[in-house]
Amino acid sequence: MSDCLFCKMAAGEIKPDIVYEDADVFAFRDINPQAPTHVLVVPKTHIATLNDLQPEQAALIGKLYLAARQIAEQDGIAERGYRTVMNCNREAGQTVFHIHLHVLGGRGMHWPPG
Ligand code: 5GP
Ligand code: ZN
Repeated sequence: MSDCLFCKMAAGEIKPDIVYEDADVFAFRDINPQAPTHVLVVPKTHIATLNDLQPEQAALIGKLYLAARQIAEQDGIAERGYRTVMNCNREAGQTVFHIHLHVLGGRGMHWPPG
């Protein structure tokens, strides 16, 4: 997908602030952070939305979560707690159509508040 921002990052054409990388996934800090830790974990292969995920790609989703766990440990928030979110399509707020797992933490993330 030559016009996809996250494919360009995976190809090294755009260099984000990488905090984790392996053969299948990479992760970098969100340009508009919503919490002290706000990292996006992205598969190197292009999958536009969760609706496009194929059964044979199931293990890839597990790798996103294993990377999220490692990032939480790196940032020292694993024990305090953190939130993982994947938005699917417009009403959920998806703006980049290459799946990614948000890792958010470093502040209270309680929902609903109270
Ligand atoms: P979505 O809204 O699709 O779930 O999440 C997309 C995220 O990508 C947003 O939180 C947005 O701030 C982030 N983002 C968009 N463009 C860039 C970019 O060029 N660099 C980085 N580091 N993050 C980006
Ligand atoms: Zn892509």
